[in-house]
Amino acid sequence: MPLITCPECESKISDLAQSCPKCGMPLSKKTTVSNTCPECNATVSGKDENCPKCGFPLLKKADESIKRQANDIASGWKIFKYLIYFAILFAVVTFVSDCIQNHQY
Ligand SMILES: [Zn+2]
Ligand SMILES: [Zn+2]
Repeated sequence: MPLITCPECESKISDLAQSCPKCGMPLSKKTTVSNTCPECNATVSGKDENCPKCGFPLLKKADESIKRQANDIASGWKIFKYLIYFAILFAVVTFVSDCIQNHQY
């Protein structure tokens, strides 16, 4: 937790504090929600939709892209499951047909 210096009484306080616990100086202007860009680790304002350094989409857009990726992985798994299912089915069918052929000869 980073500490900042109160401009009024110069005491060290948390930057998460809305006001100085010693003198009551409001610090809301300096404590605007700050985020860290997940792409380049630059400190960006909470109001920024895109990172000013690398243009990485922040806020809800980032969440949506993560959800989309998760959906893609989920649909990929579904296809994979179907492939396994058909592979097992094919193996069983060939095994049974081999057994029948071995029986005949
Ligand atoms: Zn103070
Ligand atoms: Zn960035």
